[in-house]
Amino acid sequence: MSQSRITRRGLVAGAAGLAGMFKMTAGTPQAGGALNKNSAPSQLKITDMRAVLVASNYDYPIIRIDTNQGVYGLGEARDAGREGTALVLKPHLVGKNPLSIEPILDSVRNFANHQRMGGGYSAIDMALHDIAGKVYGVPAWRLVGSKYRDKIRVYCDTTDSKDPKVFGERLRKRKEQGFTFFKMDLVTSLIADRPGALTARNTATPRGLEYLCEYIQVVRDQIGWEVPLATDHFGALNLNDSIRYARAFEKYDLAWAEDMIQVDHLGAGGDAPKNWRAYKELKEATVTPICTGESLFGLEEGFRDLIENRAVDIVHPDPLTSGGIRETKRIGDFAAMHGVQTAIHFAGSPVGCLGAVHMAATLKNMLAMENHAVDIPWWGELVTGVSKPIVDRGYITVPDTPGLGVELNEAAIKEHIRKGGYFAPTPQYDDPILDHFRQGGPYPHLDENGKPVVSR
Ligand SMILES: [Mg+2]
Repeated sequence: MSQSRITRRGLVAGAAGLAGMFKMTAGTPQAGGALNKNSAPSQLKITDMRAVLVASNYDYPIIRIDTNQGVYGLGEARDAGREGTALVLKPHLVGKNPLSIEPILDSVRNFANHQRMGGGYSAIDMALHDIAGKVYGVPAWRLVGSKYRDKIRVYCDTTDSKDPKVFGERLRKRKEQGFTFFKMDLVTSLIADRPGALTARNTATPRGLEYLCEYIQVVRDQIGWEVPLATDHFGALNLNDSIRYARAFEKYDLAWAEDMIQVDHLGAGGDAPKNWRAYKELKEATVTPICTGESLFGLEEGFRDLIENRAVDIVHPDPLTSGGIRETKRIGDFAAMHGVQTAIHFAGSPVGCLGAVHMAATLKNMLAMENHAVDIPWWGELVTGVSKPIVDRGYITVPDTPGLGVELNEAAIKEHIRKGGYFAPTPQYDDPILDHFRQGGPYPHLDENGKPVVSR
């Protein structure tokens, strides 16, 4: 159907025809050739939510939201997280129209938090966009904006080595694979055996910093100076350590230094949002670009202070923690408004990866997106519907097919289940567990005779 000929009737017919292309959920009215109700989006209702936990370099908690019309959505909670962060929200979704994306997300936002606790909200966001895209016949990116790019530039994790030459060689091989953006981990264990390298707090001494710089120099010699090179995993640095490190690295023209400040009592990880003032001090003390955010949820809850105060050069949300497609788009747009760039952290399955790709396509100032699976041969086989390899010569193509554009390869998934079965029923989540206004008895008003007034 050409753009010029789209009519309401045509849209409805297109959506109905399109729905027939999707694998239907067993036991739904779609099975057995029953009336296809995908032409009635106003009647669409969420009926169930289930999950499968895939065992990989990290566990991938993939969820599926089912509806009364056969169309379903796939989503994913944060890598190494638990599917329960999503499933516990099932009773808050069942019965609602999945196309009411923002009202639904508003209703469960109080359950979301930083680190893995952002996974449930994020997974639900992706599944709802998958459903809406399928129903309306548009890719998920179209639901939140326009496409700024057709391919997403990817950088990948690379195993470190105490031998700088081996480390450099591994990065050079990434360049041979077609990657154009690079990142290296500068863990202190790299230099632990060197004399005088570490303080009692396990941070680099001035001599240790020289050793760390050797690693960067060797990698620069291997991959060249014209390509972006980021750094990560510095250990438990305080603010002054971070400034020393960042200044020592200035001569290598890094793309960024990531999660430098460890904040302990302000929250686990190096990117606690309460610590934005320390990040601002660090940023203002160096010309090495400063980046953080892979463990933060939400614009208001996690990123606003960092961005509004220009406390970092680059925010680094993981869409499986930060709030999925819609919230991460908000974060990226807010960052762009303040002259802060966005890079995407990602370490999950192809389902969440493609969800993140849809979102990343719509950001004005997207730098690159992470991938932790380029060395896992079966990673791409977990899904169908996208061109393979998914990460091709350092880029992922943005799908133009409806929804997320991926379907699960059931056989491949079943080969890698951690536990709990393949989308097993979830009756244990039918009733609200964490929070729900429950009225214990009759309406708690008494009439003038002291008798309960029962609401009808
Ligand atoms: Mg990181």
